Amino acid sequence: MPNMPRVLLIGWDGADWRILDPLLERGVLPNLASLIERGGRAVLRSTLPTHSWTAWPSFLTGVDPAEHGVFDILEGRGGEKRFPVTFRSIKERTFLEDLARAGVETLTVNVPLTFPPPPIRGRLIAGGVLPKWRAFTHPEELAGELEKAGSPWPINGMSWTTYRNRPEAFLDEVVQVTSARQKAMERLVDEDEGDWRVACFVYFSTDRVQHCLAKYVSPDHPDQTELSKTAVAARVRDVYRMLDDGLGSLISRTGPEDLVLFMSDHGFQSCTRAVHMDRLLERLGFLEFSASNAIFGPMQWGPVRAVARKVYDRLGLHGRVSLPQAVDWSKTKAYTSVRSTGEGISVNLAGREANGIVDPADFERVRDEVAERVSSFVDPETGRRPVGRIWRREEVFKGAHADLAPDLVLEAAPLYSLTHARTAVEAADWLSGDHRMDGVLAAAGPSVDRARFDGPFQLVDLAPTILAAVGAPASVRHSGSALAAVLGTEVADRAQVAGVEERAEGPDAASALDDSEASEVEEHLRGLGYLE
Ligand SMILES: [Zn+2]
Repeated sequence: MPNMPRVLLIGWDGADWRILDPLLERGVLPNLASLIERGGRAVLRSTLPTHSWTAWPSFLTGVDPAEHGVFDILEGRGGEKRFPVTFRSIKERTFLEDLARAGVETLTVNVPLTFPPPPIRGRLIAGGVLPKWRAFTHPEELAGELEKAGSPWPINGMSWTTYRNRPEAFLDEVVQVTSARQKAMERLVDEDEGDWRVACFVYFSTDRVQHCLAKYVSPDHPDQTELSKTAVAARVRDVYRMLDDGLGSLISRTGPEDLVLFMSDHGFQSCTRAVHMDRLLERLGFLEFSASNAIFGPMQWGPVRAVARKVYDRLGLHGRVSLPQAVDWSKTKAYTSVRSTGEGISVNLAGREANGIVDPADFERVRDEVAERVSSFVDPETGRRPVGRIWRREEVFKGAHADLAPDLVLEAAPLYSLTHARTAVEAADWLSGDHRMDGVLAAAGPSVDRARFDGPFQLVDLAPTILAAVGAPASVRHSGSALAAVLGTEVADRAQVAGVEERAEGPDAASALDDSEASEVEEHLRGLGYLE
């Protein structure tokens, strides 16, 4: 059906208007500027917690985290062995599966949590953090075909924490990975000319660069005015220029009847201070680390750690490995349950956590105490509170998997990160930015209504919007809704009456990764700063 309208979605992980607007003004992003000129732009609100591992599943399913069950980069809770999340961790049907059932061919490239690749109609390159030596494309031969054609797909990469204080070397890798991926994306679009009807391309470069180099481009950082004049700042802007070229190149492959969406999974805020949430809980008397420092010694790493170390070496990740100190669960009342970003705390509840010690009768009291102490904690260096807001689970999460959510959800105060520190609270070191709720959406196409495009819209609106754009029925009761500002009222209204089916079959209980793959993925996550 070559003349049916198509949907091209470009995602820049972590993109934020606060960073993009000055770049737009400087003329660094001409293709984004013309997309906005043709259509509209708004804020796109992310999920709580506000990080990629929760947000992208909400993009894929159109439902809130309480309905898809992914709250952190690791599954499981407390002292049990926790595996990195994968596609199988998403407990609701994705729009890719609905498109496949409707016979719509898709091209899905680099969307996080699409490993192991789901069987879809079309082609897919998995995104996120991948174990080496496992098939990461659908069909499986695709990776080899790209390689033979001279545009191999580089997996992983851009582990920003491992380039500590070496921005030039880090930016070299960003440029190398981004250009290789762009080349592969263009080849995929061209080969699939006329066949795909929905294409999603995600770039991580924005997120990775902003984590360590936001202070060069983000006006909310106190040093940005000075730093923006440096050579490093010029190179950071060149990354955005390169991404904008890529955006233009993909958009040039669409026609005026097609819908183009530009979005991010969350926004970004600058950081000058960082918190280690478990260390803070320790300081406040809720958590104890095991007294032994054996965990830090190479002789005591144990088999899993040893495998991890080898993998780390083989992958050529730079810098030193820092190993987390073990929590003493028998003396711990509350712990950081969103390990990747420090945005969640749970009570170490008897009967729920593997080594839980808090009696269920004391749950509310302990949780109130933790909430009160954590939110009123003052950084002695600045006199400010690192935690901006705190919610109890039931205030935020209502859904089939709300029980998997952290007992408390936290939002960092401006200029604070709730992770990436070694002590309870300290100056940000190499870290320069972290996630915030307000991401971006821009759209252009025949039905995009500029006058109604004021937003803010929700990340969970995108799945229903994409399905409605190509007339594919939704089988999921979405938390978001099809956007009339994007589709026009008639199409958006029609989407509301699509038939909802029973929830998709429960996913495999087993992790998609074996022990050594899990360790390997964890090492990458360490390099990306998502684990300590
Ligand atoms: Zn992200």
